[in-house]
Amino acid sequence: MSPDTQATSQRLAQQIEASGPISVADYMRVANTEYYGRADPLGADGDFITAPEISQMFGEMVGIWLSDIWLRRGSPSPCHYVELGPGRGTLAADALRTMKRFGFEPVVHFVENSPTLRERQVAAVPQAVFHDDVETVPTDAPLFVVANEFFDALPIAQSIATNAGWRERVVVPDHSARFAAMPGPRSTDSQVPGHFRMASVGSIYETCPDANAMMHKLSMRMSGQGGVMLTIDYGYLQPALGSTLQAVQNHKYADPFSEPGHCDLTAHVNFHELTLCAQRSGLNVAGPCNQGDWLSGLGIDQRAMSLAQANPDRAKEISAARSRLVARESMGALFKVMATYAKGWPAPEGFGL
Ligand code: SAH
Repeated sequence: MSPDTQATSQRLAQQIEASGPISVADYMRVANTEYYGRADPLGADGDFITAPEISQMFGEMVGIWLSDIWLRRGSPSPCHYVELGPGRGTLAADALRTMKRFGFEPVVHFVENSPTLRERQVAAVPQAVFHDDVETVPTDAPLFVVANEFFDALPIAQSIATNAGWRERVVVPDHSARFAAMPGPRSTDSQVPGHFRMASVGSIYETCPDANAMMHKLSMRMSGQGGVMLTIDYGYLQPALGSTLQAVQNHKYADPFSEPGHCDLTAHVNFHELTLCAQRSGLNVAGPCNQGDWLSGLGIDQRAMSLAQANPDRAKEISAARSRLVARESMGALFKVMATYAKGWPAPEGFGL
């Protein structure tokens, strides 16, 4: 264990000893803020790889999708491109380059809280305006929002069923750099949906209040200013029980309660809740559908073919990247794509609408 790893765990353990156990949500928030703030975790030599880092085709498909809606809406100007958690800025660079070919050049806004990744993003998209939160995104024009593997990084709150009812799940130090989760004193009976209340002892119910709040804010904005939002992530479509908290380090699964701040903590995205947040604000929802179907519907096969023709020495690599994004056994079925859009806006492509 590096001294750096020890320092983060010790600090967290001391804080808990001084002020009491922290919620799973606070544990995840502290761990991920530290994690994303410390170093760039993306890519083959990092901890995990995302779709835009696999191939430029991913961002290009997003760019085509956004341009199509913009054109069918009558090419409004100005417009704002807003990306949540843009990583290395690769998706935005690929999408914006493609959009420019259609004459679509929106103002670019990045909502990002990691200073380290902001540096990478400026290098990829120098004109980007940064925001700590969606609150400061301008209110004057339609929004074209993109969130790829963003919501899964936001802190989840967990409740656990005990003999005495549902309790908030909290985190305490265990030994070394390890922590343990256990039922805390706070009752959460009122937060668990009625049909799950009688679940067996040990069952876990999870929510992501930050994701829902952000979806709600953006949906309210889009219903007033107009716009569309594309959300791509892995997740579930119906309410469910069980912990989906997971950790990844060096491209392998790790223990989420070990070495906080040194592995990527994520949880499956609850698309059911996100859909409700958008609908409650008066937006239309398309999907979720499988990423593979969405990319195929938008023409990724044709794009892969023309890229391979233009770069024959890279044909194998391009074909492998295409399958990784589309194949069911790879990212194609695990990742879901959902569009939320203002009333009166064109129905988006790729969802069979
Ligand atoms: N979308 C990128 C990166 C995904 S990793 C890609 O597909 O490659 C998650 C991203 O969300 C990182 O850029 C991380 O710094 C950012 N992030 C995580 N929590 C955040 C928060 N609460 N506010 C703003 N950005 C956050």
